[in-house]
Amino acid sequence: TTDPMAMLGTLAATASDVPKPEDNDPKAIRRIGVIGGGTAGYLAALALKAKRPWLDVTLVESKSIPIIGVGEATVSWFTLFLHHYLGIDPQELYAEVKPTWKLGIRFDWGPHPDGFMGPFDWSADSVGLQGAIRTTGNINGSTLGSALMVADRAAVYDVGGSPLSLMKYLPFAYHLDNGRLVSYLARLAERRGIHHVEATLDDVVLGADEWVDHVRAADGRELRFDLYIDCTGFRSRLLGQALKTRYVSFADSLFTDSAVTGNIDHGGTIKPYTQATTMNAGWCWCIPTRESDHRGYVYSSSAISDDEAAHELMTKYPGISEPRVVRFRSGRYEQAWRGNVIGIGNSYGFVEPLESTGLLMIGTEIQTLLSTLPGSWADPQVRDAVNIGLAQHWDAIRWLLAIHYRFNTRKTTPFWKECVSSVDVSGFQPLLDVYAGGAPLSRRSPLVQDLLNRVAPSFFGLFGIDYLLLGQQVPTRLLPMDEPVERWKARRQAADVLVRHSLPTREALEAFGAHAELNRQLLGDEDSWAGPEIARRMGLL
Ligand code: FAD
Repeated sequence: TTDPMAMLGTLAATASDVPKPEDNDPKAIRRIGVIGGGTAGYLAALALKAKRPWLDVTLVESKSIPIIGVGEATVSWFTLFLHHYLGIDPQELYAEVKPTWKLGIRFDWGPHPDGFMGPFDWSADSVGLQGAIRTTGNINGSTLGSALMVADRAAVYDVGGSPLSLMKYLPFAYHLDNGRLVSYLARLAERRGIHHVEATLDDVVLGADEWVDHVRAADGRELRFDLYIDCTGFRSRLLGQALKTRYVSFADSLFTDSAVTGNIDHGGTIKPYTQATTMNAGWCWCIPTRESDHRGYVYSSSAISDDEAAHELMTKYPGISEPRVVRFRSGRYEQAWRGNVIGIGNSYGFVEPLESTGLLMIGTEIQTLLSTLPGSWADPQVRDAVNIGLAQHWDAIRWLLAIHYRFNTRKTTPFWKECVSSVDVSGFQPLLDVYAGGAPLSRRSPLVQDLLNRVAPSFFGLFGIDYLLLGQQVPTRLLPMDEPVERWKARRQAADVLVRHSLPTREALEAFGAHAELNRQLLGDEDSWAGPEIARRMGLL
C-alpha cells in the first residue's frame, strides 16, 4: 500500500462496465453537457466518449471567459491516464504538445543549501535513502532518478548511433504547456465526435430536488442535458453558484491565494524536473518547456502586494517576461456530485500546484465518475461514496501540502515565521508523532506502515512523506542502516556510471519524438511502470 499507484486504484475501480441503457428507458443518461472548455472540460468530455461511446457529449464553452492558462506540471499517474485511459497516441502528443519530462520535484527548501530532490522513483529506493543520509548528510542521489535530476539528464543512451531507453524502469511525468495542451485536446474532441457549443451560460434553471432542468445562454438559447459536468473553473457556475454547495476552505493550512507568472529563457538546457524555490512570501515554480522555463511565484496577498511579488520575481530572475497575476483560493466544495451535476476541476476543488496535483485530481475525479455513473437515473445511485471518497483525496493533499509550509526553515521572513508557527497540520499530526520516534517511515515495521497508511493516507505513500520530512531535516531518530555502508557505496557508483553515460534531457526527448518504438516499449512492455499490467491494476485499461 505504499505504492502511490495502488492507492489511487482504491476508489476508482475499473473502466466503465455499464451497458448501454435501453432505448425505451425514459431516465437513461444519454445527453451529457460538459460546461467549460479548460483542461478539466476537455479531459472529461474525451473520457466520457472513450468509455461510453454511445453518449451524446456536448462541450459548452464561453469565448469571453478565458481558461486559467497555467498548470503544466503533472505526476507520473497522469502519463498512464493520457495514453491508456484516454487512448492518446504518444507520437501525436510529442509532435503537437511537445511535452518535457519530469523525473520529480527539486525543492529549494529546508536548511540544506542544495535543497533536496523528490524523485518519482522513490519507492524503488534504488541507491538507498538511509545510506545517502548517513554518508552525505543529504537525501540527494538516493535513487537513479534523483541522481539523473542532479545531472540534468534522462535514462536514454546512445548505443552505436541508436537510442537505448531505460525510461520504462523510471517513473516520470510530463510538463505540458497548457495552451498547447488545451488546443490539442480541442482538436481531438472534434475528431472523436464531441459536439462543441460556443455560449456563455447565464442562468441555471433548477427543477425539483437539486436537479438542473436546463441552462440558458446569454443569447437566450436553452440547453438541456441528462447530466451536467461543471467544469467552469473557479466560478463553479452550477455546483457552487446555482446549487449553493457549502465550501470547505483550506485557508488555515495554506496561506497563499495569488500567483504572478512569467517565462524566461533557459539557454537550451531542459531540466528534467519541476523546481519549487522558497521566496519571501511563498514559493516559485519552474516548469521547463522546450522553448523556455515557465515560472510562477505563489504568494499570500496579505503578506505582500502584487507589485512587491512581481518585483521580487523580476529581481530574482532578470529577463523574465511581463508578469501576469492569477488569483485562487484553496479548498473544495463539500460535495462534488449533487443531483444531476458533478463538478470536475477547479469548479470543485483546488490547491496551489506545490505537488502538481491539479491534473492528477481532475483525472481521478473523471475516473471515479466513470466507474460509478449509472446508465440510467432509475438505477441505484452512489453519490455519497463518490463525495466521501473524493473529499478524502482532497483533504489528504491539504495535509501533504501543509507539511511543506510547517517545516520549511529556509527563510525567516514574517510570512515563513507565521507558517512555521501556525500552519494547521492536524490531519497529519498522528503521522508526524510516529515520524519523530523513528524514520524513514518506509523502513518501519509493516504494521506501523499499514497503520499510517490508514491514519494519514496520501497519494504519495510513505516514501513521499519520508522525502519531504527528511529532505527538510525535520528532527527524528534515524533507524539503523540495514546493510553495510560498502554495499550502498557500490550501488551509488553503479548509478554514477549510468548517469555519466546518459543523454541530456533535450536529446533524450528528441529520441522519443523520432523513434516510436521507445514509446511502444514504455507503454507496451509488461515490465514497464507505464505498461498494461500497471494500467490494468489501476483500472485505467
Ligand atoms: P479553467 O481553465 O478556468 O476553465 C474554465 C472554463 O469554463 C473556461 O473554458 C471558461 O470559458 C468556462 N466557463 C466559465 N464560466 C462559464 C460560463 N458562465 N459559461 C460558459 N463557460 C464558462 N495543475 C497542475 O496539474 N499542475 C500545475 O503545475 C498547475 N499549476 C497551476 C498554477 C496556478 C496558479 C493555478 C491557478 C492552477 C494550476 N494548476 C495546475 C491547476 C490547473 O490550472 C487547473 O486544474 C486546470 O487548468 C483545470 O482548470 P479548469 O478546466 O477547471 O478551469
